[in-house]
Amino acid sequence: MQKDAQVCVVGKVFKPNRLKVLALNRTFNEYFRLVKWYLSFNSKSKSFLHENCYEKAKELFNLNTALIQTARDKAVEILKSFEKVKEKNSILRPKRISMRFDRRCYRFSKTTNVLTPYWLTLSLNRRERVSLPVAFGEKQKQRIEEALRGGWEFTTVEMVKRDGQWYAHFILKKSVEVPDEPETVITIDRGEHNLAVAVAISKSNPNKPIKGRFWRGQEIKQIRGLYGHIRRKLQEKSRVGKVKELKGKERRKVDQQLHIIANQIIAYAKQFPKPVIVMENLNGIRQNFKKSKKLNKRFHSLPFRKLQIYIEHKALLEGIEVRYLTKKETRNTSKTCHRCGHVAQVKGRMFKCPKCGMEYDRDLNACINIAHGVMSSMGWGSCEPPEPADEGIGAKPTPNAGSPQASTVGSSLELFPPS
Ligand SMILES: [Zn+2]
Repeated sequence: MQKDAQVCVVGKVFKPNRLKVLALNRTFNEYFRLVKWYLSFNSKSKSFLHENCYEKAKELFNLNTALIQTARDKAVEILKSFEKVKEKNSILRPKRISMRFDRRCYRFSKTTNVLTPYWLTLSLNRRERVSLPVAFGEKQKQRIEEALRGGWEFTTVEMVKRDGQWYAHFILKKSVEVPDEPETVITIDRGEHNLAVAVAISKSNPNKPIKGRFWRGQEIKQIRGLYGHIRRKLQEKSRVGKVKELKGKERRKVDQQLHIIANQIIAYAKQFPKPVIVMENLNGIRQNFKKSKKLNKRFHSLPFRKLQIYIEHKALLEGIEVRYLTKKETRNTSKTCHRCGHVAQVKGRMFKCPKCGMEYDRDLNACINIAHGVMSSMGWGSCEPPEPADEGIGAKPTPNAGSPQASTVGSSLELFPPS
């Protein structure tokens, strides 16, 4: 089966001259004004906006027609994602947007100039066009070279302004082959006590989960704790600008950790034959927050959603498909005993089944339940209760042998040695 994989390669606009920066800034203001103008029609239909507003937009805004169209798409995207997460009485106020250039309004090429070989030419409006030198980091350069050789298709370029500096985000696409019939189901779930939990189930022995692994997200907790503390101190002194700057820094540090974890999860999945990654669909997650305010989940949910996105991108690059489960399919997974199917209340870190007596790490139990659900929908194995897999180790992990309490980000807890 063919799937589209996407990557984003970021380059920095390298020492542009002042006039070019001014032209970019001017265009950006115009573009932002246009996005807000489109938003004022409060429509999520691209065709409605095109039929009713496009001609007017061409009169009112001095922008390239391709930019007028991407601004419309942006407005629709902003509105859709706002409605997904909106809370009562909240007002949509777009703050940070990027400018999207599609194939009709940019050109990217490599020249023989040694210092700045990469040049991005943007059509801004009917008369204006700027050519900008772009510099890449080592890894990004490799990918952009790959793309220039035809290994990737150039789609759009998002121009992003951060701290007064312009960056070009190249969105590249290619088609990858993923197995039609996977042989291993890898479930990645968020837990109550862990940022993420993974378990694998193989087609050849579907009644026995193979390997559990935990990512506690300790580093992320620390980053957040630290920045939260500094922010409170600054707020006392009313230094709003500084607070904002720190927010960005904190986000980038958290992202970095999430990338590390996502890479480890992909490496985990890759050790199994023909893996497919399965995760819970977390759309509309804000609503859950209200119900579970006191739970740790609230703390972990947002980074976990981001983690899912990173996992999905990275997995596709390795030819691993990612599937999402509906809410219905993941219902009660945390309260159900994965061995006997009994539904019980859970307290603390361990799931203790009042019916069959099984004691199990709570997050891993939920993860195994999700895997079982997927498994039966794929027609693997029976609906018989699963074998009591390696209980001696699985049921009561000893603290020193890598229990979830003792493990840190990325540490492995091999409850079930691969058979
Ligand atoms: Zn039980």
